[in-house]
Amino acid sequence: MIISIASGKGGTGKTLVATSLALALKDSQKVRLLDCDVEEPNDHVFLKTNISGSEPVFIPVPKIDEAKCTRCGQCAEVCAFNAIAVLGEHVLTFPQLCHGCGACSYLCPEKAISEEKREMGVVEWGGADGIDFVQGKLTVGEAMAPPVIRTAKRHTDSDGISIIDSPPGTSCPVVESIEGSDFCLLVTEPTPFGLNDLVLAVGTVRQLGIACGVVLNRAGVGDNSVEDYCRRENIPILLTIPLDTEIARLYSRGITLVEGMPEWKDKFVGLFEGIKEIVDARSRSLKR
Ligand code: SF4
Ligand code: SF4
Repeated sequence: MIISIASGKGGTGKTLVATSLALALKDSQKVRLLDCDVEEPNDHVFLKTNISGSEPVFIPVPKIDEAKCTRCGQCAEVCAFNAIAVLGEHVLTFPQLCHGCGACSYLCPEKAISEEKREMGVVEWGGADGIDFVQGKLTVGEAMAPPVIRTAKRHTDSDGISIIDSPPGTSCPVVESIEGSDFCLLVTEPTPFGLNDLVLAVGTVRQLGIACGVVLNRAGVGDNSVEDYCRRENIPILLTIPLDTEIARLYSRGITLVEGMPEWKDKFVGLFEGIKEIVDARSRSLKR
């Protein structure tokens, strides 16, 4: 089963939920945690991971053979990302903008474009206290997270439970992270901002056809609008975590909730049971 953890905005407690869910399940399940928040992966801080291997992530970018090029401009026309331009007698490429789609080299009538690899991140793997761990890291200054996320997701475990900690927001990196999940857990807080971003996140998840549920973090801080919305939209709130200075203190010291307050382990196991029930019911109804 693949469970992705997402949130419409940063700072809602995604890392807290992902790491505690992994720790709560590790004694009864084979668990792999994939930190796909590649711009700022921080699960490793909480899990004190040992990294045992890594692979660089490359994308193919165009290299122009000026001798073959006739400056016809077709490559610049086809590039949707303005990563290639014909200026007078020269063809300029902008590797930082290139998405590595290959359209320019495929369509160049003179076969003047070859591809070279550009490194833009790394995927690392290892372990942490009985949990398999994978994390993607986008090189500082790079803009495109999806290739690193894609490479990290190749390490998803087909046997056990894979937990994907997604980037915040609702843009391409989030879609890349949660696509293919059996369930997406949306972490939010009961404030107007939390509701606004939750609505956007639910829209994304529904478009992808993924079942979802909510973890309400810092309950007690705001109003009931998130609960009202979830009731209206028939989205289950599977776990509520109160606004609690002790939880905040643990988090600020890099200690997971399940380790710092072991009574939370059963609640996270219950969260998993709730997810499993929804996933099983959905797969039964799809089979009918
Ligand atoms: S499509 Fe090929 S030949 Fe035309 S400008 Fe681009 S590199 Fe040159
Ligand atoms: S590979 Fe795709 S994104 Fe990159 S320059 Fe060519 S057409 Fe543009």
